[in-house]
Amino acid sequence: EAITVQELAKRMGERGADLVKALFKMGTPVTITETIDQDTAELLIEEFGHRINRVSEADVDIDTSTDVDPADTLKPRPPVVTIMGHVDHGKTSLLDAIRGASVQSGEAGGITQHIGAYQVQLPDKSKVTFLDTPGHEAFSEMRARGANVTDIVILVVAADDGLRPQTIEAINHTKAAGVPMIVAINKVDKPEAKPQKVREELLQHEIIVEDMGGDVQDVEVSATKKTGLDKLLEAIQLQAEILELKANPDRAAEGTVIEAKLDKGRGPLATVLVQRGTLRVGDVFVAGASSGKVRAMINDKGQQIKEAGPSFPVEVLGLSAVPSAGDPFTVVENEARAREVADYRKGVLDKKRTTAAPVSVENMFATHASTIKEVPVVIKADVQGSVEAIVHALNRLSTDEVRVRILNSGVGAITESDVTLASASGAPIIGFNVRPNAKAREAANRTKVEFRYYDVIYHLTDWVKGAMEGELGPEI
Ligand code: GDP
Repeated sequence: EAITVQELAKRMGERGADLVKALFKMGTPVTITETIDQDTAELLIEEFGHRINRVSEADVDIDTSTDVDPADTLKPRPPVVTIMGHVDHGKTSLLDAIRGASVQSGEAGGITQHIGAYQVQLPDKSKVTFLDTPGHEAFSEMRARGANVTDIVILVVAADDGLRPQTIEAINHTKAAGVPMIVAINKVDKPEAKPQKVREELLQHEIIVEDMGGDVQDVEVSATKKTGLDKLLEAIQLQAEILELKANPDRAAEGTVIEAKLDKGRGPLATVLVQRGTLRVGDVFVAGASSGKVRAMINDKGQQIKEAGPSFPVEVLGLSAVPSAGDPFTVVENEARAREVADYRKGVLDKKRTTAAPVSVENMFATHASTIKEVPVVIKADVQGSVEAIVHALNRLSTDEVRVRILNSGVGAITESDVTLASASGAPIIGFNVRPNAKAREAANRTKVEFRYYDVIYHLTDWVKGAMEGELGPEI
C-alpha cells in the first residue's frame, strides 16, 4: 500500500512541505507528489505525534488505492475562475454582468441563487465556473488551507484609475499561487479611461500583456455597458484549453467547501466545488470535521439536482455541522467511516489550535516543473530605497540549486494582507525598520507566520542565506 506525500499530508491535516522536510531528515528524500510505503507513512505519523492506529484506520485508509486517477479516466472539465482587483474597480459588477449575460442568453432558467459560485455556458456549450467571492483574501485563505481551487485569475483594473495597492497585492497573490492571469481592463466606457496606461503600469510588475508583445491576455471591458464580455469569456476559454484541465468524473467525489453557513430552516449548508468524481444525492461524506449524507443538492440556478461532476458548484444539504471554507469534502463508503474520519479531523484541528506548527516553506520543493528549491519571503521596509537594496541583495544570493522568491516587497508596516500572502506560501515576513500592525500580529498568531526584524541589510541577507542552506537539506 502506497500513498502520496500530498495525500498523506491532507489526511493528517499537516502541510505537505513539513512532511517532505521530515522525510528528508529521516533519510527519505521524496517530493510531494511521490508515494511512500505504509511503514514510512506510519513513522511519519508518529513523528508528527498523531495516533497511529486510528489514523491508519480512520483516515489514511479513506481510499489510497485510487489516489491518482489513471490518465485514461480523465475527461475535460470546466475552468474555475476567481476575480481579483482593487476595491471599486468593478469586480462585483463584472461578476454580475457575466452572470446576467448568460441568464439573458436563455440558459435554463430558475431564479439565480447566490451559493458562492456560478456557472456560465458558452456558445459551444462548454462551461466556466466563477467563484463569486471576489478578492485575494479569500483566495489566499483557501490556499493557506491547502485548497487550490482556482485555475484562472481575472485581474480587474479600472482604466480610469490604473494599478492601485490591492491590484498589486492581487498580482502578487496570483504569482505566488502560480495561477495564470487574464487582465480585464474595466470601465473603458468612461471618457477619462486610459487603457494603454494600465498596460504600461503592468509592465512594472512583469506582466506583459499580448498588446505589448507578451503572453498575458488582456481584454477591454465595461461591466456597466456590458461590452467586451464575450471577448473575456473567449480569453478564458483559450486559457482553459492551454491548461488542458481534466478530472475523472467516474469515482467517489472529492472537492472543497467554498462557502458554508447555518440556515435557520434548512440547517448547516455548504457550497462544495466538486474537483473530481461525481457527487450524488445519498452519498455519505466528510466535510472538514463534520460529516453527513447528501439529502439534497441545489445548483446556482436554484434547481434541485441529483448529481454534480468536476468543477460544478453545488449547495449541499445534510451536514451535521457547519464546515469552514477551504475544508476538504470527501465521499466515503459509510456513515461509521464518516464519523470516524470527522472525529479524527476534529482532534487534529483542536491540536492545531493549541500547538504552534512550525512555519514551513511550502514552495521550496517545487511541485512545478523546475527542480530548483525556493525560499519564499515577503519584504517590507520603511523606504523605497531600502526595498530596492534588499531585493537586489537577495536576488544575488540565488544559485542554481536554490533561489530566493520574493512574493511581495513594499514600503510600510506589515499588514494582514502580507500575512495572508506569506501564510499561503509558508514564507516568513522580513521587516526592515518596520513592524506589523495589530491586525497583522493577530493574523500571524493564527497562521503561525514568522516575523523577522532587521535594521542592517547584511544581517538580513545573512539570515536568508542560512535559510537557503538549510533548505538544501542533506546531500542526496
Ligand atoms: P468592486 O469593489 O471591485 O466589486 O467594484 P464594484 O463592482 O462595486 O464597482 C464599483 C463602482 O464602479 C460602482 O459604482 C460601479 O457602478 C462602477 N463600475 C463598475 N464597472 C464599471 C464600468 O465598466 N463602467 C463604469 N462607468 N462604472 C463601473
